[in-house]
Amino acid sequence: MAILMSASLAPGLYIVAGPIGNLSDLSPHGAQILREADVVAVEDTRVSAKLLRHAGSDRPMVPYHDHSDERVRARLIERMAGEAVALLSDAGTPLISDPGYKLVRDARAAGRAITTAAGPCAAIAALTLSGLPSDRFLFMGFLPNKAKARGDALAEIAGVRATLIFYESGPRCAAALGDMARALGERPAALCREISKAHEDVLTGTLGDLAAACAEKEPRGEIVLIVGPPGEKPPADADEVEAALIAALARLPASQAASEVARTLGADRKALYARAMALKGKA
Ligand code: SAM
Repeated sequence: MAILMSASLAPGLYIVAGPIGNLSDLSPHGAQILREADVVAVEDTRVSAKLLRHAGSDRPMVPYHDHSDERVRARLIERMAGEAVALLSDAGTPLISDPGYKLVRDARAAGRAITTAAGPCAAIAALTLSGLPSDRFLFMGFLPNKAKARGDALAEIAGVRATLIFYESGPRCAAALGDMARALGERPAALCREISKAHEDVLTGTLGDLAAACAEKEPRGEIVLIVGPPGEKPPADADEVEAALIAALARLPASQAASEVARTLGADRKALYARAMALKGKA
């Protein structure tokens, strides 16, 4: 069978970020790739047909998921040797809670050229809308469905000093936010809904406030939850410092006990040492 190669795109893999709402979110670069690729690997041909029409593309599509038959992936990698293969998701950036990781992994291992027409991603769009710290963040994708697994996943990240980003669905929001309030403590949060669409909105408050709002009225549409980092630990009070010092003195000499408590509770080492010597004198 004769293969018709792209007139202007070099062979390889082209990761194309699609819109997350407004079709015009697709970049001119992404649209050009969709028009010129030899084939477009997509999650759902019906969803992507709409975007291809919008981009003026008549290129053929093939369904692709990371759990697709290994042979589907191998065939795409093979095609990338001589053809331009575009990878497109139903929404936003491929690989981000979407298929593509294994395709990129194997394309790289096979030495194929890989490039990206970067663009919209709901996680990043929500972070920028939230008003919460954006210097350090952890993307968690979708939390597990089962309550126990969800609790475990949240417990694992409770101490992480970063803004947290979760994808959620309306029906699960109240339960997820309640679990977050219990596992992470009361923190500022934002519920970002329908970003880049007609009914885009952002609800802010503590995790408890948002859980109560979602329990009262289930939010509709697509949702990203942003949760602020844990607050600074309040300084330990005098009784706590004294108790820690007495416990440390039972195991360690005065100078080491003072150093340990200074390090763990952030208290003044010199004052702790003086107090440790006084306590020793009393003993
Ligand atoms: N690859 C996509 C991206 O780059 O954001 C994410 C795909 S993931 C399967 C779909 C989830 O992303 C939705 O359930 C929702 O949590 C979030 N999402 C996608 N579009 C959104 C939008 N316009 N507004 C809010 N959340 C959105």
